[in-house]
Amino acid sequence: MKEISDIGVIGIAVMGENLILNMESKGFHVTAYNRTVDKVEKFVNGRAKGKNIFGAMSVEEFIGSLKRPRKVMLMVKAGRPVDDFIDTLIPLLEPGDIIIDGGNSHFPDTERRVKFVESKGLLYVGTGVSGGEEGALLGPSIMPGGSEAAWPAVKPIFQAIAAKVEDGSPCCDWIGSGGSGHFVKMVHNGIEYGDMQLINETYQVMKEMLGMSADDMQKVFHEWNKGELNSYLIEITSDILAFKDENGAPLVDQILDTAGQKGTGKWTGTVALELGVPLTLIAESVFARCLSALKEERVAASKVLTGPTPSFEGDKEAFINDLRDALYASKVISYAQGYQMIQAAAAEYGWSLDYGSIALMWREGCIIRSSFLGKIKEAFDKDPKLQNLILDDFFKEKILNAQAGWRRVVSAAVLNGIPVPCISAGINYFDGYRSERLPANLLQAQRDYFGAHTYERLDQPRGKFFHTNWTGRG
Ligand code: NAP
Repeated sequence: MKEISDIGVIGIAVMGENLILNMESKGFHVTAYNRTVDKVEKFVNGRAKGKNIFGAMSVEEFIGSLKRPRKVMLMVKAGRPVDDFIDTLIPLLEPGDIIIDGGNSHFPDTERRVKFVESKGLLYVGTGVSGGEEGALLGPSIMPGGSEAAWPAVKPIFQAIAAKVEDGSPCCDWIGSGGSGHFVKMVHNGIEYGDMQLINETYQVMKEMLGMSADDMQKVFHEWNKGELNSYLIEITSDILAFKDENGAPLVDQILDTAGQKGTGKWTGTVALELGVPLTLIAESVFARCLSALKEERVAASKVLTGPTPSFEGDKEAFINDLRDALYASKVISYAQGYQMIQAAAAEYGWSLDYGSIALMWREGCIIRSSFLGKIKEAFDKDPKLQNLILDDFFKEKILNAQAGWRRVVSAAVLNGIPVPCISAGINYFDGYRSERLPANLLQAQRDYFGAHTYERLDQPRGKFFHTNWTGRG
């Protein structure tokens, strides 16, 4: 067998197929393999016909077709199939060969696999690939991490197929060691949950409180997309609101209000709790989906649990501007929390990360792509050790200017009985973060009262602990 291919991809489903075609279109020769080999034949005789794509009928044939160091990319279902393929590949590969997992693996699995594969003399890359089916074909955002020695061999392929920003920089760079690539992809997905829920909350306030039609709201989102909120998600929201069904009515109004989820948002929330990071906004966005799923319970509750009937008197246009400010400021908080989580994980797992470069990777090619991310890159380029995004001059100014409108939106929504869990989580975090003193003094006293957990005193050095007999009983 001639060693003809620059890279081999295992897994011919939507993502694998499109990534292979993307690689081939950038001048790389690719070998394709799939557990169910019928799909290989179908692919090489279909979309891959006439292209520099070789379809292998066995793993041995697949390996034999690869140039050295061999680069094998797995695009299979996350979980057991990845471990099974690693076990199959190891005896067939040689030192220096590279196994890449491009699926949605959970980062602790990638941490474990990097160690295991390296112990066999091979290299391992766990990479987040974002942008769905279309991104895979036309240019995804790619977030690789793992064995750094693999990067020089993988870089030319990944950076060629990745999305590009205006100046041509690829939305792909080395993230760091271990499972950091998949960790960053996980946080990206959590941020996606937050961004979507924030847009949904502004939509509900416009609809329920301001009584706006889908067409009216479409115009607002279309306008917002021309300004600092410019992003893929605002753009598609505007498209969705304009879309009419066969009767000429907005299709969005006919869609059942229960949200699905695949689990990566949940991972982000769970890991935040484990790391002790106050990732409140993304966590609320996951819970908002959970609450939406309780449709029947909500329908029954709506008949017995009454609240205010939403109404609005005042300057509608000014309030829409408040909504825009609330959305923007909450979005800043969500990213600030996401970055805090990445920073906490880097400290916990010993990863050395470039935060500006991570923002650039999300700038194009993925669902959260937005011009806003360019500003985040600038903030971390200015201060690579920036502790919190909201302390950056640009974002601080933005939030301070937005806060009056943000507060009016949260107050009005609460008074009108409209749930805004993420917008209010955002302002609660902001108010908590900027508070010199929180009520945790009372909390520590309570803990000491019932459990002798001790407390520190304001007038004593940190690390000196006190206990009080609060009841006077022995
Ligand atoms: P998928 O539906 O997640 O997986 C299908 C592929 O996995 C097929 O090649 C299938 O082989 C293989 N597979 C499933 N179970 C297997 C097993 N037990 N042993 C060996 N192979 C097995 O495919 P996808 O949607 O293209 O996604 C691929 C990866 O990218 C996943 O990790 C996914 O989470 C991630 N991802 C997907 C998207 C997206 O928009 N779809 C976006 C980003 C990331 P057979 O044909 O033999 O069943």
